[in-house]
Amino acid sequence: MNHDDLRDWSKRAADWAHDYHTGLRGRPVRAPLVPGKIAAQLPAVPPEQPEPMEQVFADFEAILPGITHWQHPRFFAYFPANASPASMLAEQLANAIAAQGMIWQTSPAVTEVEQVMMTWLRQGFGLADHFTGTIHDSATTATLSAVLTMREAALTWKGLSQGLSGAPRMRLYCSAQTHSSVDKAARVAGIGQDNLVKIATDDHLAMRPDALQAAIQADRDQGYLPIGVILCCGGTSVGAFDTLTECIAIAHAADLPTHVDAAWAGSAMICPEFRELWAGIDGADSIVINPHKWLGAQFDCAVQFLRDPTPQVRTLGLRPSYLETAGKEDIVNFNEWTVPLGRRFRALKLWFTLRAYGLDGLRQRIRNHVKWSCEAAEEIAKIPGIVLTTNPRLSLFTFACATDDATETLLNKINDDGRIYLTQTRHEGKYVIRMQVGQFDCTREDVMMAPKVIAELME
Ligand code: PLP
Repeated sequence: MNHDDLRDWSKRAADWAHDYHTGLRGRPVRAPLVPGKIAAQLPAVPPEQPEPMEQVFADFEAILPGITHWQHPRFFAYFPANASPASMLAEQLANAIAAQGMIWQTSPAVTEVEQVMMTWLRQGFGLADHFTGTIHDSATTATLSAVLTMREAALTWKGLSQGLSGAPRMRLYCSAQTHSSVDKAARVAGIGQDNLVKIATDDHLAMRPDALQAAIQADRDQGYLPIGVILCCGGTSVGAFDTLTECIAIAHAADLPTHVDAAWAGSAMICPEFRELWAGIDGADSIVINPHKWLGAQFDCAVQFLRDPTPQVRTLGLRPSYLETAGKEDIVNFNEWTVPLGRRFRALKLWFTLRAYGLDGLRQRIRNHVKWSCEAAEEIAKIPGIVLTTNPRLSLFTFACATDDATETLLNKINDDGRIYLTQTRHEGKYVIRMQVGQFDCTREDVMMAPKVIAELME
């Protein structure tokens, strides 16, 4: 395949993508779960000779039954990974350029568009001027970066050179509502799962500030080294929010940095009316938001805002001579802010998305999602045999049948039916079904299909 072939196949791929997206409503949302079926379609050994692209394309189409359609307008599972058409176009162009933006000079535009996009987003989310930031692949990497920075600041940057074997036992704090990426960060950063202290929550599932304060003090009394606090702003399970003002004040009074996981809910903060949910955010030291969840900048795109990037750059930055840019000392090399060296041109899809829809167009979508999820929750609550187990937090709510078994049976029926896709969580020990609304192209009709399907399957 050469570049002339690429041009022809790109046109064909664009037509294919158009038909795929506009025809999604006719497909079951979730792939049928038959392990090994797709792998069995593929030869066990790689080809020795070139194969015709026509055949490669046909084989690509043959694996589609193994795809769960995340851009299906009735995808209500997990959180969305929504992809605006403008963001897909930007990805095509970024793929065409195929630049690797590891340092400023390897493509100044990659770094500079990223800097401007972080400034645009800071304004869009209504964050204070002191925040600056960068783009990661995932919230997991951003949180790991924040935790590594907390660790090194607490060890006065000795862990980087000496390792952790002689280090005091460290402690990190969060509530049980925070995402498992925090557990992963504690494990990977060498803090240890046992040293991730899960602070009790109140009736609203928010971290109890008094319990946070007591835990930090008790740990210090016992000789542990507290390193930081991770706060939850829109938990994955049922959308819990910590009270940031109080918790950040306690962390800072104890000289501890804070990182806020707003991976999902953060996108909603382009709407001023939702910002009370993260009141106090400007006090955070680090914040992660995934525009690849709910803002239309397709996967992967996680932004991290930092009050001061210096500690993170000190933790993650390395500049061997082959990465120096002679005579340019004031430039930003974003690999020094993140774990990987290599960097994709992720800012391009933010740029295209923000321009193609405007903040107002994106706000309107999020407002609709929140409104329609409330309407769907109200209808689902009326179905005999179903109770809402949590009310909508932004666009996420949960419901259940009388027993866990009945709830699981219902969920399996829903997903085998294929018209909508939902997933489960555990809430207060109970197996419950989650529903979130957030797909970029979904309509009210798509959302209201959920109560209809559920009522039908409950009969
Ligand atoms: N934080 C929250 C609240 C999430 O819901 C998720 C994923 O759904 C993550 C973090 C991890 O996100 P990522 O897949 O970008 O690592």
